[in-house]
Amino acid sequence: MLTTDVLVIGGGATGAGVAWDAALRGLDVVLVDRADLATGTSGRFHGLVHSGGRYAVKDPAAAEECAHENRIVRRVAGAAIEDTGGLFVTTPFDDPVYADQFAAGCRATGVPCEEIDPAQALKEEPRLNPAISRVFRVPDASIDVWQLVWALARGAQDRGARVLPYHEVIAIHRESDEVRGARLRNSRTGEQLDVEARVTVSASGAWAGRIAELAGIEGVHVMPGRGIMIAMAHRLVDTVINRCQMPTDGDIIVPIHTVSVIGTTDVHTDDPDDHSVLQGEVDAMLDDGERLVPGFKSARALRVWTGVRPLFEDRKEGVASTRDVTRAHALLDHSQRDSVSGFLTITGGKLTTYRLMAEETVDAVCRQLGQARPCTTASERLPGSQDGRYYHLGDRLGRREDTLLDDQLICECELIPRRALEQAIRRQGTADLDDLRRVLRLGMGPCQGGFCIYRATGILHGLDGLDAPAANAALLEFVSERWKGVFPILYGDQLRQARFDEWIFQGVLDVGHLPTGPVSPGDTIAHECVR
Ligand SMILES: Cc1cc2nc3c(=O)[nH]c(=O)nc-3n(C[C@H](O)[C@H](O)[C@H](O)COP(=O)(O)OP(=O)(O)OC[C@H]3O[C@@H](n4cnc5c(N)ncnc54)[C@H](O)[C@@H]3O)c2cc1C
Repeated sequence: MLTTDVLVIGGGATGAGVAWDAALRGLDVVLVDRADLATGTSGRFHGLVHSGGRYAVKDPAAAEECAHENRIVRRVAGAAIEDTGGLFVTTPFDDPVYADQFAAGCRATGVPCEEIDPAQALKEEPRLNPAISRVFRVPDASIDVWQLVWALARGAQDRGARVLPYHEVIAIHRESDEVRGARLRNSRTGEQLDVEARVTVSASGAWAGRIAELAGIEGVHVMPGRGIMIAMAHRLVDTVINRCQMPTDGDIIVPIHTVSVIGTTDVHTDDPDDHSVLQGEVDAMLDDGERLVPGFKSARALRVWTGVRPLFEDRKEGVASTRDVTRAHALLDHSQRDSVSGFLTITGGKLTTYRLMAEETVDAVCRQLGQARPCTTASERLPGSQDGRYYHLGDRLGRREDTLLDDQLICECELIPRRALEQAIRRQGTADLDDLRRVLRLGMGPCQGGFCIYRATGILHGLDGLDAPAANAALLEFVSERWKGVFPILYGDQLRQARFDEWIFQGVLDVGHLPTGPVSPGDTIAHECVR
């Protein structure tokens, strides 16, 4: 049994933000997630720190909120952010009238925006559609969400918080009209653990309705809106490029680390764990890319994935004002809404506004505890971001050049040296190559793990003392996971790469016949992939 002031359910950006905020205010915190941190929507999003421009016409309140938070997140989380800047461009496919509405909307909502000459934009971004007629510069940026979420979690840990990934909430402890904590199940060992908390915060995004149901609370309806994104090899653009039109599908390209990501769609689904990718969505997305960057479809597509938007609709009887499905965030204080104390739900919103969502939530926690503890997350820099510098694309290469002769390179695409891999294995305490992928970007480049993952498995085997069947299982699970995102976009160079990877895994390693530990659900796919 653990006891704490605040139990936070959900280790996405919102939950990790709540943990960091509460720990900074001196509260004792336990943060749990059913899987690794940032593997829900936060780990499956588009990677954009919104300037607010996207919402300047359609949703002025959201635009103001994003503009405000953009400034703060840049200040406190610089190491996770690349200051790419953003452009809104009017292509021949966009209504030219929108451009003036956009400029007026930015002025009205405080989104910094400067109109520039299209010729200047084409000089900066030569791959852009040469027929663009209007261009506006805004302070969009890209963000590495795993770096952000782990920095939030580590910052909280440094202040005493306990962070428990792979711990699923299977029951909420409720006594009469009070929530007293939850029961967790370790998803790896099956062991159960009770947490007694003075306040329990559900920051479980698209799963918030399910957690509320565990507490016996009805009407918290979160409708998952599924969207796909496609990572293209290389940086086709170095600036976030938005179509200057009412927000729609496939109208943003975000340069992030070594790739450019186009997104997204919005398809209703009933299941937040539905990650299906429809061929029609992929085709439409590539067509959309072509409108912004001619030649987009013949560039190399690396991978496709999906995320689910937590779109909140309050279906509780008598709550009339919030019946609309909303993209804004919703903080439900269940002591007011349902007369159940010790329980809060925070859901919806955007990654860009995670800090504000956390601030409002911990304010509500403090009210429930009857304590006045001011929020400091707008000024306290995160671990790793103390020097206020942004991440820069050349940083890894710069570090690599310092150790060229004394540190073996494990992943050529993402320039990951052996020492960094070994440090991450020890720090994360994991034998899961996918966990390491997220914190290092291992296997996320053009070969999708073809060249690096068997090397990494060998190192994991040696360092962690994994026996051979367990190491084989780790390798197979990684290959299976990668295959899910590669399979729907196989054409051109990436198809050639996939065939080559198949020869490596099948021809050199004969992975189809490796002895593994207990069969994991992913193995079937891996065997199909290397058939
Ligand atoms: C396609 C798409 C693109 C997007 N792009 C952007 C963008 O570019 N910029 C932007 O600002 N926003 C974007 N968003 C929105 C943004 O990604 C989300 O609003 C944000 O990530 C939600 O974070 P969260 O922490 O609230 O939820 P999540 O990250 O989903 O975290 C919830 C966590 O709860 C955990 N959980 C669930 N059930 C349990 C349980 N029983 N026990 C323990 N843990 C549990 C899950 O594992 C999950 O990790 C995008 C969303 C989508 C879908």
